[in-house]
Amino acid sequence: MWGAPDESSVRVAVRIRPQLAKEKIEGCHICTSVTPGEPQVFLGKDKAFTFDYVFDIESQQEQIYTQCIEKLIEGCFEGYNATVFAYGQTGAGKTYTMGTGFDVNIIEEEQGIISRAVKHLFKSIEEKKHTAIKNGLPPPDFKVNAQFLELYNEEVLDLFDTTRDIDAKNKKSNIRIHEDSTGGIYTVGVTTRTVNTESEMMQCLKLGALSRTTASTQMNVQSSRSHAIFTIHLCQTRMCPQIDAENATDNKVISESSQLNEFETLTAKFHFVDLAGSERLKRTGATGERAKEGISINCGLLALGNVISALGDKSKRATHVPYRDSKLTRLLQDSLGGNSQTIMIACVSPSDRDFMETLNTLKYANRARNIKNKVMVNQDRASQQINALRSEITRLQMELMEYKTGKRIIDEEGVESINDMFHENAMLQTENNNLRVRIKAMQETVDALRTRITQLVSDQANQVLARAGEGNEEISNMIHSYIKEIEDLRAKLLESEAVNENLRKNLTRATARSPYFSGSSAFSPTILSSDKETIEIIDLAKKDLEKLKRKEKKKKK
Ligand code: ADP
Ligand code: MG
Repeated sequence: MWGAPDESSVRVAVRIRPQLAKEKIEGCHICTSVTPGEPQVFLGKDKAFTFDYVFDIESQQEQIYTQCIEKLIEGCFEGYNATVFAYGQTGAGKTYTMGTGFDVNIIEEEQGIISRAVKHLFKSIEEKKHTAIKNGLPPPDFKVNAQFLELYNEEVLDLFDTTRDIDAKNKKSNIRIHEDSTGGIYTVGVTTRTVNTESEMMQCLKLGALSRTTASTQMNVQSSRSHAIFTIHLCQTRMCPQIDAENATDNKVISESSQLNEFETLTAKFHFVDLAGSERLKRTGATGERAKEGISINCGLLALGNVISALGDKSKRATHVPYRDSKLTRLLQDSLGGNSQTIMIACVSPSDRDFMETLNTLKYANRARNIKNKVMVNQDRASQQINALRSEITRLQMELMEYKTGKRIIDEEGVESINDMFHENAMLQTENNNLRVRIKAMQETVDALRTRITQLVSDQANQVLARAGEGNEEISNMIHSYIKEIEDLRAKLLESEAVNENLRKNLTRATARSPYFSGSSAFSPTILSSDKETIEIIDLAKKDLEKLKRKEKKKKK
């Protein structure tokens, strides 16, 4: 299902929840439909979206877990990070799907992703130990830790911190987010619970979920206005698996290090992210404090969207991915495009009154579809070395490119520097663009002025004629067109004079440079001829006028 381990993409699933009783009572219609046998969802009649998985109304929790998540837990045992996040408007089923609620009486079938994943994790641990013992090998050692964080108003809160003052939500927490030398993200000041069994883990989850920040909006009485991130860390020490000779060439570094120590340590973290509602503020009628929350929630989702689109866009990916724009993206940095396999579950409501929000959710999810992650094993030392070598290669390639394009140079004394021409060129280019814009604006002004002059001059002439009692419409139209022509010619004249001037300058320069080239004044007659042309036209106009006047007189007689 996942591609080659080093080139897998972020997967996107869409889940449509069933209509709630309230929606049925209020007579909402279903506006979503799924193409049978295709991961394609239709919204209304004509808006179609294709994703990796589409789960229609009747799909069960079990199905979502086995199709989307199971593989990721398996991956954790091989040292791959993983992230699942649930996106969508409040009430679309994020918490239900993820299982971050604190409903203790939930029946087995309705259990969400987290409890299934936890069960799977501890079952696999037991199995792996068992298999090793059966084969007469030393059993692998596992350490499982959990963290539960909440992001509320761009503040990181620790849901495991029992001493935390629930009322002091706005107080600054002392949790810090850091990045290690290999780009891994870790937090400081967060309670880490070491967990040994499935039930211990579930107990932790329930306690944390209870202290989540929730507040009511018109949409959902228990809607959450914050992002919840539940993280499981898995640390495994196991016998090195035998590396076969075929892979030896590209895994050279790994094999060398694993021959040194018989055991290897693999670490992996699994994030379960229940995002805050993606709805627009207007819809929920939020004001005041709630509106402030809304803004920072959207800031996180906005940043997440930008990160996603930067990762999806190959040209942008190489330059800058704006992880630092929000705490959410910073925390998820190594889970999006980093050392991680990621799945986004976009939850939507089927009801027609949520049409716009559903459309927005599908569009957002569609943006994430293009991300291609580079996934690799968290293997101690070896992977760090590979990482370092990879980035070194990229850096050198960049440098080489810069030499090739002339941005970087080495002068006679062997000192390297950035080419001044490069800066100058960039500056000139900007200036050029600015000037181009200015010329365009000026040209427009000139055109407007010319039209006005034509109008004014012809009006003036008409007034004179009217005073002499000789004006009529035909004549005034003619005058107008002549004056227009005169103005156009005048403009052309000015233009050609300028060209002429330029050419003359070039000529003088050329003559100065080459003594064999003798200049001539062949250009000056152009002005004269142009002037003559104008005079001729005016003469013609006068004659035409005379003719018309005569005609008028004849008519009067
Ligand atoms: P969100 O976390 O997105 O705000 P919830 O997970 O709280 O939404 O879901 C809202 C309501 O819809 C809850 O009452 C939940 O039980 C119900 N619900 C959501 N998804 C499903 C589903 N797939 N099947 C049955 N009920 C669901
Ligand atoms: Mg929720």
